[in-house]
Amino acid sequence: MLYTARYIITQNETREILENAALLVRGTVIEAIGPAAELKSQFPDEAVEDLGNAVIMPGLINAHTHIPMSFLRGYSDDKSLMDWLYKDIFPAEAKLTPEVVELATLLSCAELLRFGCTAFYDMYMLERSVFKAADKVGIRAVLGESVSSFFPSLDAKNVDEFFESFDANDELMKNHQLIRHALNPHAIYTTETAILQRCRKVANEKKLRLGIHMCETTVETAGSLEKNKQRPIAYCDSIGLLDENTTLIHMVDINEEDIATVAARGCATVHNPASNMKLSSGVSPIQQQLDAGIAVGLGTDGPASNNAQNMFREMYIAALLQKLDKKDPLQMPVQTVLDMATRGSAVALGWADTIGSLEKGKSADFCALSLSEPNMQPVHKVLSNVVYSATGMENKITVVAGKVLYKDGFYTSFDYATVLEEAGKLSDWLKNN
Ligand SMILES: [Zn+2]
Repeated sequence: MLYTARYIITQNETREILENAALLVRGTVIEAIGPAAELKSQFPDEAVEDLGNAVIMPGLINAHTHIPMSFLRGYSDDKSLMDWLYKDIFPAEAKLTPEVVELATLLSCAELLRFGCTAFYDMYMLERSVFKAADKVGIRAVLGESVSSFFPSLDAKNVDEFFESFDANDELMKNHQLIRHALNPHAIYTTETAILQRCRKVANEKKLRLGIHMCETTVETAGSLEKNKQRPIAYCDSIGLLDENTTLIHMVDINEEDIATVAARGCATVHNPASNMKLSSGVSPIQQQLDAGIAVGLGTDGPASNNAQNMFREMYIAALLQKLDKKDPLQMPVQTVLDMATRGSAVALGWADTIGSLEKGKSADFCALSLSEPNMQPVHKVLSNVVYSATGMENKITVVAGKVLYKDGFYTSFDYATVLEEAGKLSDWLKNN
């Protein structure tokens, strides 16, 4: 299929933006990209899908979420982190069943696809049910159970049983084309050294990504200084946790030494501005991380602390937050923000060889925003419209590995009407259980 449109934002090495351009998709990959007239004459027999006055761009990549938490969207807001977690979220999560996790994942995947997101990195519980839903939808995902020291959990009675069930899930996910398994210790304040080192060992053996919440608040730093006599990054480095297959989520309360260590170990980091603002965690110093050569991705965090899974909204918030925080409008220009949501997030998922840009040989993972909506006109600089003006509702089509999963209001791989009906019952289910 030859997709044509007014613009294509490639996000390639030189950040080319093509006008009156085309993208040739064969199977799961991009076969060619260039001027529409040229590709049409080169491939005269190819079927053409003309997206018209639109901008084709790489699918956005949500580098950190707890995707089934859409079942708690709007359930508890405007509270302190500890009240929110211990009084509302943890008791509600204790009621979870595999069926609810699957339904909530389907709901979240519908949201991701609607807003042009083609891949996500999830850390939650009952991940087998997340897998079932993501597999059905056909979206790209890195999935891993969150592991802490609190047992029994929904996944296991004790830590040995957790790693047994982890092995079983690994069998289920390995060799899947679009879904990869990961090991996600929740945070240093919810685990202990032995568990973290065991996670590192298993991740190394199975060649998996390891993701962990890191330096989210000053409270976390104070706790580590008291317990480990070191700041969180220095502690993790001392126990051998940090390497180029590690993704550090949040990185709010960090100093120059932390940044230098993370850069030296080659870890990726993920910025979650809406969640950090809503829970008053603080502001992650993004430009300092980028200047140190760290790949920084962008994520929404869970739907209960955001409360959306909309990466266009997240890009807008990310840009504005840094400008305000630094009292400097030159911070976070549009290209930097889009880089985070595409190329940076691709590194955070450990999938930069396949996604994050539209180039020959890469996977055909993309979306296309209509430029005919009133908020998208005129087009002086298309990147500005994408980062500052788009809401995500302009998205016309979402394609993952060459397959159309969403188009003009319709989902192709699951019945959204049923998901909507079942999701509508979640509030009553929570009250009555
Ligand atoms: Zn999180």
